[in-house]
Amino acid sequence: MKPAVRRQERRTARRPATTATAAPVADPARVARDLVAWYARAKRDLPWRGSRDAYRVWVSEIMLQQTQVDRVKDYFARFVGRFPTVESLAAAEEHEVLRLWEGLGYYRRARQLHAAARRVVAEHGGGFPRTAAGLRGLPGIGRYTAGAIASIAWGRREPIVEANSRRVIARLAGHDGRLDGSGGDEPIWRIAASLVPARSPGRFNQALMDLGAMVCTPEKPLCGTCPVARHCRALATGRVAEIPAAKRRRAVETIRETAVVVRRGPRVLVVRRGPGEWWEGLWDFPREPRGATGRRIGRVAYGVTHHRIDCAVVERRVPLAGPAPSGGRWVSISALAGLAMTSPGRRIAALVADHGAASSRSASPRGGRRLNRGKRSANLVKPSRVE
Ligand code: SF4
Repeated sequence: MKPAVRRQERRTARRPATTATAAPVADPARVARDLVAWYARAKRDLPWRGSRDAYRVWVSEIMLQQTQVDRVKDYFARFVGRFPTVESLAAAEEHEVLRLWEGLGYYRRARQLHAAARRVVAEHGGGFPRTAAGLRGLPGIGRYTAGAIASIAWGRREPIVEANSRRVIARLAGHDGRLDGSGGDEPIWRIAASLVPARSPGRFNQALMDLGAMVCTPEKPLCGTCPVARHCRALATGRVAEIPAAKRRRAVETIRETAVVVRRGPRVLVVRRGPGEWWEGLWDFPREPRGATGRRIGRVAYGVTHHRIDCAVVERRVPLAGPAPSGGRWVSISALAGLAMTSPGRRIAALVADHGAASSRSASPRGGRRLNRGKRSANLVKPSRVE
């Protein structure tokens, strides 16, 4: 079974409604009753469940955006272990928040979580706004997250639409419009709002998500054991395989570049990714166009959104004198472990450690001369794409 992930929420202008017709579900009260009863006996055992604390609901929901549930479990435990309250998160330094987030990806979520915690403490005395609309005034909290916090933590009758619930609702209602975020969501939100019950809205919303994760899966849904099969329009009309409509796939773009491990004596140069770049705020090795000079020590390949990055890694030595370039910092190899680094940066750091002995040999006067014959000052090109 391929678990679905939640899309990261963005503050955008209100999307136009699709032209496709959204058929309402025939008996919302019975759907809710059957679904909540199934949830009581079949729900997933997740570390953020069992608590209606708004802070824990919020942290888990932000982590779950774009990230699979199994991957989030350990991160969540570590994060709330280190920051058990919104006040403790607000008091933290950003680099510590990013270090705990490292490997989870989409670091904008971590920065916004941190910024929102500071706003909650500074402007709301440590208590979250008690309405979905109020929650949406905080950084990183969009329509989905606000609905999740308001319904799960406070029992408010607010709908949620994320990857799993979107698919379940589309099938229940027989909605065959596109659901790829290009205007297709609004009918689903309306149906979700018509389904969510006044009683136990939080359990209903979590039941929708669990049903989508465990039963109403993207491929081969288990309709034979589905607790709401008798209400399902897609099943009744033989269109389960067609709903939701297939997404338009974006072409993958390949980028070839070089990461340069610039060595100055026992230290290496790292640069902090700036505003508007992928992994903003995290440390990485400088990048140059493909073909940059230096001793080749490896290669890393990774994907970011619809890009595939093929990155050669070279090592280059520079003279001991002189300051670090703007935005850069010289650090010992052992100190890299304490920095919040991009995921490719962390992999390059491992390569650097692996090649430490070889690098020490090449640091001999003869080897050093050989390496410095090329470009002596690092003409560094910082990454410039937006995450
Ligand atoms: S009957 Fe099948 S398609 Fe309909 S909600 Fe249940 S699992 Fe999904």
